[in-house]
Amino acid sequence: MGQSVGFDVVVIGGGIVGLASAYKISLNHPGVTIAVLEKEERLAVHQTGHNSGVIHSGLYYKPGSAKARTCAKGRKELVEFAKEHGIEHKICGKIIVATDKKQLANLERVYNRGVENEIEGIERIGPEQIKEIEPYCEGIAGIKVPCTGVIDFVKVAEKLGELIENKDGNKVLTGYEVTGFEKHDFFTRVLTGKDDLKARFIINCAGLQSDRIARMDGVDAGVRIVPFRGDYYELTEQAGEKVRNLIYPVPDPKLPFLGVHFTRLIDGSVECGPNAVFSFKREGYGKLEFSLRDTLASLSFAGTIKIFIKHCKYGLVEYARAFSKKLFLSQLQKMIPTLTEDDIKPGKCGVRAQAVSKKGELIDDFKIERKDNAIHILNAPSPAATAALAIGDHINRMATDYFRLKD
Ligand SMILES: Cc1cc2nc3c(=O)[nH]c(=O)nc-3n(C[C@H](O)[C@H](O)[C@H](O)COP(=O)(O)OP(=O)(O)OC[C@H]3O[C@@H](n4cnc5c(N)ncnc54)[C@H](O)[C@@H]3O)c2cc1C
Repeated sequence: MGQSVGFDVVVIGGGIVGLASAYKISLNHPGVTIAVLEKEERLAVHQTGHNSGVIHSGLYYKPGSAKARTCAKGRKELVEFAKEHGIEHKICGKIIVATDKKQLANLERVYNRGVENEIEGIERIGPEQIKEIEPYCEGIAGIKVPCTGVIDFVKVAEKLGELIENKDGNKVLTGYEVTGFEKHDFFTRVLTGKDDLKARFIINCAGLQSDRIARMDGVDAGVRIVPFRGDYYELTEQAGEKVRNLIYPVPDPKLPFLGVHFTRLIDGSVECGPNAVFSFKREGYGKLEFSLRDTLASLSFAGTIKIFIKHCKYGLVEYARAFSKKLFLSQLQKMIPTLTEDDIKPGKCGVRAQAVSKKGELIDDFKIERKDNAIHILNAPSPAATAALAIGDHINRMATDYFRLKD
């Protein structure tokens, strides 16, 4: 590429949200040229490539929220997209299981949300039905969610990248790290370690780095990305039979995380996790990884300290669990009591980009800000991979209105 090649829209971030947004703009505006810039050498290396691979139904989310609006719609579209492009996926269904009477009120709350969100086929189930669906699982009550499934989101992201590039004038450029912006009257020069690009409009989908990109553009929406690591264990091959499909606990309504669960992935292996602990590095995939810059960014923000104070007990228990196989196992045994230490082995880990407000709230819903010629996606946690195509539609509508895109 020559120096300062121009594009109508530059999307920063080659994760599933950036790619789905670029794809939807490209479909709706064939005359608009788009570049997706990804700092890594491959697409979908961070959150999109380190998640549970679950196609979420959409039942958990507050009715009317952006998550609720986009998850079920995005799920249906994702399944159609996977069918059309031959991407392996399975709508295997899941169960949410209460193992203690204290969880029953929250289980009912989740069920009612599912009904309000019109999630198809959900059913309350009792202990016998739990056993019929998952013979090794013990629960006192549950919810059956038939429309949940599994997929490899990296394959979806790669296909989106391919489709974007199929159109003349579009580029998906890996190894391009955005380092700054130079604002001009009718365009922005996007600075990268390589060639600079001219952009009429910018869409920031940089996930774990999205607040930094926003600040480079002079946008401070009062939130900071605080990274939360999620560790997984895997069931050994012999123990694999103890889980048929997906088993979830009842989530704690005070937290935006769904709790440690069992997932039979699309390749047939079974993962258990993820937990949620504060991470000392935004893109650090080991328990001891540390970045001074990232740690200072989190700890110098008042909201992070407020969160630590508010969730101090939960945080300490989660930390202990992260370093103790026994404690992690005891969490899993609540749902499958016959699991033993020999049944699980350490697996992968992922890092969630969780936006935190100055007041110390874990921002639950998606957060999107607009300023001048830019749109910044500042919070796209789970289920954003499931919802990506619907989020892409939303970003396309915003871009059409605010940037007045033609065609
Ligand atoms: C442990 C875990 C489990 C999850 N499980 C599920 C699940 O089962 N189902 C589900 O729907 N969702 C799940 N999620 C959430 C889902 O993975 C994310 O919401 C989604 O992947 C977010 O996509 P993204 O494109 O915003 O972010 P990312 O995939 O992180 O992409 C952002 C991209 O921006 C790039 N970037 C950053 N800075 C720059 C820069 N300066 N220049 C250029 N590029 C840059 C990064 O390299 C990265 O590739 C999970 C997330 C985690 C972490």
